[in-house]
Amino acid sequence: MSRNDRPKACDIFGYRPVSFETAFPEIKNFEMEVDFEPELLRDSYTAHFSMDKRPTEYIDCRESLCYRGGFSVRDIFSEMVGKRETKYDGWQMCRGYLGSPKGKVEYQACVSRWKVRVSIEYNSVPTTPPETEHQLNPPRS
Ligand SMILES: [Zn+2]
Repeated sequence: MSRNDRPKACDIFGYRPVSFETAFPEIKNFEMEVDFEPELLRDSYTAHFSMDKRPTEYIDCRESLCYRGGFSVRDIFSEMVGKRETKYDGWQMCRGYLGSPKGKVEYQACVSRWKVRVSIEYNSVPTTPPETEHQLNPPRS
């Protein structure tokens, strides 16, 4: 079984890169560093993102047994921009679960995690936060 045969967060929520101009017009520049700590595998990795190399809305979990795994980049930026914070340094836990080959049996929550560091440079003239921000990730019924 290949290690890419289980749907990850991006397969479910989409691979769109975060559209910073529309979603976060007050961000002038940013840098994001992500260190992945997998639960079972040992192929941890570090990834760097910036305005020139944008992340997708969700970063996928690379744990091979994990379903729907990943974390939301947009959530981090939404919270930071809402509070106008310039630094974030914290852990993001995987949202996925470890399951049987077809995903029918849920063994346990995936405990892979990412150490995430973000620094944001804001535009000097504050713009009004978009009031529709919370509607960008509507709950799916
Ligand atoms: Zn996972």
